[in-house]
This record gives sequence, C-alpha cells and structure tokens, in this order.
Amino acid sequence: MSSTVVSFASGAVTGSSTVARIEDTPDGAVVVVEATPFHPVDHTWPDQPGDTGTLTAGTEDARLGEAVMAAVSDDGQFAVGAEIPVKRGADGWTWLVAHPLVGETPTWLHEGTEVTLAVDEPRRAGLSRGHTACHLASLALDLALADLWRKDPGVDALGTPDFEGRANQSSRIHEDGAVDEYRLGKSLRRAGFDTETFASTLADREEAVNRRLREWVASAATSAVHTDGPTIVDRRRWRCELPDGTAEILCGGTHAASLAEFLSITVALDLTDPQLLVMTTTVSPAV
Ligand SMILES: [Zn+2]
Repeated sequence: MSSTVVSFASGAVTGSSTVARIEDTPDGAVVVVEATPFHPVDHTWPDQPGDTGTLTAGTEDARLGEAVMAAVSDDGQFAVGAEIPVKRGADGWTWLVAHPLVGETPTWLHEGTEVTLAVDEPRRAGLSRGHTACHLASLALDLALADLWRKDPGVDALGTPDFEGRANQSSRIHEDGAVDEYRLGKSLRRAGFDTETFASTLADREEAVNRRLREWVASAATSAVHTDGPTIVDRRRWRCELPDGTAEILCGGTHAASLAEFLSITVALDLTDPQLLVMTTTVSPAV
C-alpha cells in the first residue's frame, strides 16, 4: 500500500479513485482511497479541521465525516488520528487519509470499489479563508510587536522578530475565522520581550494589526499552496505575495487563492489573563 495522493493543495474539491481499504475502529468504520481531494486534520498540530463530504459509486452514496490522518506500520499496525504513535512522516509507516463513514458501512462499499468523492464546498471555502486569515493575522501581529523585543528572537516569514514562533501555543481555525493563544510567561520575558509595555499599549497594537490587515486585503495579493510532491506526507508551503514581501510558511492546510476573496480581516486582542494573549481573527468574505 502507498501513501494517499492528495489534490486539496491545488484547491480541488472533487475526485475519482478506488477504495484501498475499509477499517473498523472504536469510533466506526473508515474508508481509505488511493487519491482524495479531502484535507485531513493533522494528528500532531490540529489547527484546521478535516473536510467533510460524500462518497458516491453509481447511484449509491455515503456521507463522510471529518477526514483524519491514518497510518499503517511496515508490520501491519493500522492507526487513526490521535492513536497514531509517531509524528507525521516517521520512517516505517505509510501515511494515509481516512474518511470516517457516518452510520453503518454500506453493503455496496468494498475494497476495489470505484468511487467519486466530493468535499462540502462552502465549508471548505470558509476554512480556507479562515486559515489564510490566521497566517496573515500572525504576520501582522509580529510586525505590530516588533519594537517590543530587547533581544533578537529570530525572524518570521517576512523577516520580522518572531513573536508567533516564540509564543504561539495553539491555533484553532474555523469557517471564516481563527483563535490563536500565546503564552506570555517568564520564558518569553527572558527571551527579551517587553510584556509590560505590550500590556499597557494593547489597544494601539490591535489597531496596528488591523491597519496592516486592511492594507494587505486591499492589495488583493495571490495566495497559494506549493507542494514537494503529490502525497499526504510530502511537505507543503503556503506562499503569499504581500506588499511587505513574499511570505512562505510550512503549512499542511488549505488556503484562499487571493486576498481578493476577503472583504475584511480583523483581529481582537484579549489579555484578560495577563499570562495568555488570545487573538481572535474574523473574516468577512467578499462573496
Ligand atoms: Zn497553516
């Protein structure tokens, strides 16, 4: 068995393939096909939820829940999602996209069945805008906080002091938005970040992020995913040609094709817990 071929990086939402295996898991049966347009949630950094949709063979169809990562070891151990005991790409494992079946396994569905797959398009489009907005908000946040570093923390994809890389502890993308959490503890202070000045200028920083996001949306910059190869385990990068330079970030998700897809992207910064910055990103789509 070989790694699943994936087409979501190019924006594909439909595809034809052959069922490679059907596996029972404690949460129900999952289907693995040779090639899929579905984006699966990553089992180690679950920022973007998996695609949902349908699988069709002739006049029959079945509903598919959120796609997940699966892996099969060289000695035949099959594992799904959080059950996978190794990181994506680890040697000795073949990497797969698994589609959970909603309800009972249909009697017409077998290994070798020719099927077509269709992703729920409005949900995918919303998640793609949410993911692009999430990256843009992080880059704009790094720029808005750049003067608060007393030491060099390393740089982000635009060459800005990398607050995102130093402090981000979780990122959750949903349709047309995202929530990012940043740890503002002792280690960030030791790394040279001026937490006190940040806290006392929070409203100005938020306005600076939103001003930058307005400029970037107005630029209608192109945004795309570039891949090193066709399978789920090949590395992928998001690239966006911003007025401040071309940003390129390692990223396994899906993205808007252009910033013209946005009417606006805005953030709200919350420091209710002084140790934890919560950045909530909200998209208004142009369509
Ligand atoms: Zn990403």
